[in-house]
Amino acid sequence: MAERKRKKFRRHDRNELPLLNPEIRKKYLDKEYILGYGHTVALDEADRCILCKKPPCTPSCPVNSEMEKWIEQIQKQNIWEAYKILRRNNPFSSVCGRVCPQERLCESTCVLTFKDNGLSVGIGGLERFVGDSVRMSGIEWIDEKEPPTGKSVGIIGAGPAGLAAAYFLARKGHDVVIYEALPFVGGVMRYGIPPARLDRRALDFEIELIKKLGVEIKTGVKVGQDIPFEEIRKKHDAIFIAVGSGRGKKMGIPGEDLKGVYTAIAFLMKANVDYLDPMLAPETDVELPQGKKVAVIGGGFTAVDCMITAIRLGNEAHLIYRRTRETSSAKDEEWDHLAEEGAVFHWLTQPLEVIGNEKGEVIGLKCIKMELVPDEKGGRPKPVPVEGSEHIIECDYVIMAVGQADNPLAYKDVKGLKIDKWNNLSTVDEKFRTNIEGVFAGGDVVNGGDTVVMAISHAKKASEAIHEYLMTGKWEYTPKE
Ligand code: FAD
Repeated sequence: MAERKRKKFRRHDRNELPLLNPEIRKKYLDKEYILGYGHTVALDEADRCILCKKPPCTPSCPVNSEMEKWIEQIQKQNIWEAYKILRRNNPFSSVCGRVCPQERLCESTCVLTFKDNGLSVGIGGLERFVGDSVRMSGIEWIDEKEPPTGKSVGIIGAGPAGLAAAYFLARKGHDVVIYEALPFVGGVMRYGIPPARLDRRALDFEIELIKKLGVEIKTGVKVGQDIPFEEIRKKHDAIFIAVGSGRGKKMGIPGEDLKGVYTAIAFLMKANVDYLDPMLAPETDVELPQGKKVAVIGGGFTAVDCMITAIRLGNEAHLIYRRTRETSSAKDEEWDHLAEEGAVFHWLTQPLEVIGNEKGEVIGLKCIKMELVPDEKGGRPKPVPVEGSEHIIECDYVIMAVGQADNPLAYKDVKGLKIDKWNNLSTVDEKFRTNIEGVFAGGDVVNGGDTVVMAISHAKKASEAIHEYLMTGKWEYTPKE
């Protein structure tokens, strides 16, 4: 208590994460460019945290990460204990420390920001530091688990939602089998987010820890095609559907079938894992551009990842977005990083048509300028076209990062299952129960596409409900109003 009173508010001296020099980083497709805190800097950053009695950061994290408890352990130089606390709520803290939009979640509510334009504690950097330190210590990490229950859960999809659910359920003593369509594990964390933003050693480490709990992962199994859903249902006492919502989508504009126009999913899959799967990528072939002009359409995470990848492949990368930088959903600093790497930005610009030559190759993108007008209902300002402002942006390739489509292969033939108008399972109740007894769902398949930490939060809550169902047999689907 006395210690807490003595603590000074260090509002302005946040330790920022170091970056690789832009000229170096743009040469490496597989080298993480935002570096982590070293030990002494991490200790200093943790020291900025005043360990609030009622910390606002914890409830603003979708998994309630108990920041005040694990940051206190960093202050005490007890990294092992800090990781133990982190793993109570999230098996992917090394990943979330890197890819979470902390500036919109935990860091946005840090008390240091309440006055004088203060800067939050670097919670993301510290989270990453803890996971990386345990991994690099080389000492074997073992999660505790409860005695076997004799119950078994089948999980469909090995993205963050499926893997996190497997982790929580295995720790409760249940047998868990994951069925994954692709030949690799991790979902979007592996085939979507480039290694320049998420070091695969960190991802692999946390996946290995889940396997160590005894979770079996069967890869290359498309549920609904290679094996019927009902067959899996018969094998297990409960099912968790976590298939994401990750099918590549185009815009529906003229010229988008030309050679060299790709969905973001196909482009990133090809670059990240050198693989294309017709379940997720409509393209049968993707040629990765090098030394060309590449236009990326979009303003979110996915557009950023396409730009990072296009630049590292050696291209001139142009971003085309119909809104402004300030109203885009990507992290503000990511646009700065891309600018340092030579990216060209076309804000308030809407593509109308992809222009091709007689050989069917892309030569440009016809666009129109937009302006933002206030929304009458008080919502986000709306982009509207500026008359007579049509123009052409010359380019050789176009990548469409305009959202993902549904992927209902696993459950589309399940009799009686309530599916929403987007073919997703937002029809689950508060406990992530579908209307079919013993069948739960979570992650992007429920919310249509959000964040890694939101998928993990669904998995955490669904696992609690699955455990309750397995142990009590109680089932009461209560649809949301
Ligand atoms: P997914 O990650 O999509 O995993 C679903 C898994 O199910 C896949 O492995 C798939 O192959 C498998 N599957 C599908 N159908 C079947 C079937 N029939 N049978 C068996 N298996 C099946 N979020 C962030 O927080 N930060 C970021 O920086 C970020 N960047 C992103 C970048 C990109 C390019 C994209 C596309 C998304 C990004 N997101 C980011 C969003 C985030 O990745 C997703 O919200 C999250 O991955 C959803 O997790 P999930 O487990 O529900 O689905």
